[in-house]
Amino acid sequence: MKAVDADVIIVGGGNAGFSAAHAAAERGRSVLVLEKASRERAGGNSYYTAGATRVTHGGLDDVRDFIDADERHSSTEVPPYTPEQYIADMERVTEGRNDADLTRVLVEDSQGTMRWLSSLGMRYRLMYERQAYDRPDGSYLFWGGLHIGNTGGGEGLIADHVKIAECLGETVVYDCDVTELIVEDGRVVGVVATLPEGRREYRAESVVLAAGGFEGNVAMRQKYLGDGWQHAKLRGTPCNTGALIEAGLGVGAARAGDWGSAHSVQWDAFTPNNESNRELTNRLTRGGYPNGIIVNRDGQRFVDEGEDFRNYTYAKFGREILKQPGNVAYQVFDAKTRPLLRVEEYEMPDISEYVSETLDGLAEAAGIDVDGLRQTVDAFNSGIDESHDFDPTIKDQRRSDVQPPKSNWASSLDTAPFYAYPVTCGVTFTFGGLKSDVDGRVLTESGDQIPGLFVCGEMLGGLFSNNYPGGTGLAAGMVFGRRAGSIA
Ligand SMILES: Cc1cc2nc3c(=O)[nH]c(=O)nc-3n(C[C@H](O)[C@H](O)[C@H](O)COP(=O)(O)OP(=O)(O)OC[C@H]3O[C@@H](n4cnc5c(N)ncnc54)[C@H](O)[C@@H]3O)c2cc1C
Repeated sequence: MKAVDADVIIVGGGNAGFSAAHAAAERGRSVLVLEKASRERAGGNSYYTAGATRVTHGGLDDVRDFIDADERHSSTEVPPYTPEQYIADMERVTEGRNDADLTRVLVEDSQGTMRWLSSLGMRYRLMYERQAYDRPDGSYLFWGGLHIGNTGGGEGLIADHVKIAECLGETVVYDCDVTELIVEDGRVVGVVATLPEGRREYRAESVVLAAGGFEGNVAMRQKYLGDGWQHAKLRGTPCNTGALIEAGLGVGAARAGDWGSAHSVQWDAFTPNNESNRELTNRLTRGGYPNGIIVNRDGQRFVDEGEDFRNYTYAKFGREILKQPGNVAYQVFDAKTRPLLRVEEYEMPDISEYVSETLDGLAEAAGIDVDGLRQTVDAFNSGIDESHDFDPTIKDQRRSDVQPPKSNWASSLDTAPFYAYPVTCGVTFTFGGLKSDVDGRVLTESGDQIPGLFVCGEMLGGLFSNNYPGGTGLAAGMVFGRRAGSIA
C-alpha cells in the first residue's frame, strides 16, 4: 500500500468541509483540505451567506452564553424554537419529502454543534437586521424560527473556520481541483487533483466529499432541473460544478434526495455583475415581497406572497419567476411599505429600481403592461380584509381575496410614490446529492457502505425538496460535517 499524505482528505473548504476537518483534527487525525478556488476566492457558497443558521433553542437565555453581547438583548424577545417546530418546518416546506433520519439528527445536533464550533472560536450573534422587527415601544421581536447567525456573516464564518483550521494544524491546499476518486480493493484511498503545477494524487485513509452541489454547472442544471434553468443567475461560487457528485456515482454511490429541484430566490434582474459577486453577495437578494405584491411583465400576480414568513417561502419563489415571460418579475411597493424593506438589500449600490408618482407611470417605466398592473392592483386593494391590522411581526391574517390569494400582510397599494424592483431567478444550491447514513458514510444502491468515502454539506442528498427552511444549509453543513469528521 502506498504512503498516505494525511489520515483524512476533505474535498472542499466550505462550512461543511471545515466542520468535518475540525472534528477529525480534534481527534488527532492529520487533515488535508483540498480546495478548488484560490485563497482569495475560497469559502464556497458559505462565504456568500448571511451566516444565518437554524438551530433549536429555548429562547435568549438558552443561547446568551455563546453569542456576542449586545445592549439590545435586554429589550429583545426571542421566541423558543423547539425540536418539534424544526421537524414540523422541515416536513411542511418539503411536503414530507425530507429524509426522516437525517432530519432528526439535524435537529437533535443543531445547537450542540453550534456550541462546539463556538468552543473552537466561531463567533455568533442575534441577527437583528434580518430576523427581527422593532416594535413601536422600542423593543425587538424575532420571528421565523431563525435567529442566530455568524458574526461578520459568511465572510466572518469562513475567516473563523480558517483560523480554527490553523489552530488545529489542518493543511489547506488552494487551487486544487479534485477530479477523480482513487479506488483500490473496493476502498476509496485517495483522489486525483489538478493543480497549477500539474496533476497529482493525494492518498489518505478516508476521503470526505464536501464539494457542493451542481448549481454552477449549466448543463447539469438543464439536465436535472429542467429546461429554463440555464437562465438562472448563479448566486454563489462558480466552483460547485457537480464533478465530485459524478465521481461518487462513478464509484457506486447511490443518488439521494430530489434531483429535480433547487434552492432559488428572487434576485436583482438587471444590475451588472449579478452572478457570483463576492462584494455584493447576499445583497442582490430581494426578500421584502411579503409586504408587497409580485407581478410579471403582463402585470399579473402568480404566487401568494404572504403564504408564510419569508424564511419559509423565499427559497421556492425563484423557480416561479423562471416560468414567467422573459424570466423576470417585479416586486411592487408603495410609500407605506417601502420603509419596511431591508436597507442592505433595497439600498444596494446600482440596484435595479423604478420609482413613480403614479402606478401607470411605474408600469411604463418598468415595462409592465399598464392596464394589467392597474387591474391587478385594483382587484388586490378591493379584496383586502380590513378586519385585521397590518402587522409584519406576526402572521396577521390580513388577506386579499384575489387569485392567487395573498394570505397575510395585504397592504393596499395606494400611496405615492410607487416602487418596482425587477427580479429574476437566482439559483443557490441543488437539492439532489449522494446517499449516506446519518454519519456521512456513503452508501450504494443496495445500502452497503463504500469503505473510506464520506459526504456532507450540499453534496449530501435527502434533506430538502422543492423548498427549504432558511438557515438550514449552514446548519446541515456543520452537523453532518462534524459527524463525518468524527469517524473519518
Ligand atoms: C448568496 C447566498 C446566501 C446564502 N445564505 C445562507 C444563509 O444565510 N444561511 C444558510 O443556511 N444557507 C445560506 N446559503 C446556502 C449555503 O451557502 C449552503 O447551504 C452551504 O454554505 C453549503 O456548504 P457546503 O460546505 O456544502 O458548500 P460550499 O460552501 O459551497 O463549499 C464547497 C466547496 O467545495 C469546493 N469545490 C467544489 N468542487 C471542488 C473540486 N472539484 N475540488 C476541490 N474543491 C471543490 C468549492 O470551491 C467550495 O469551496 C446561501 C447561499 C448563497 C449562495
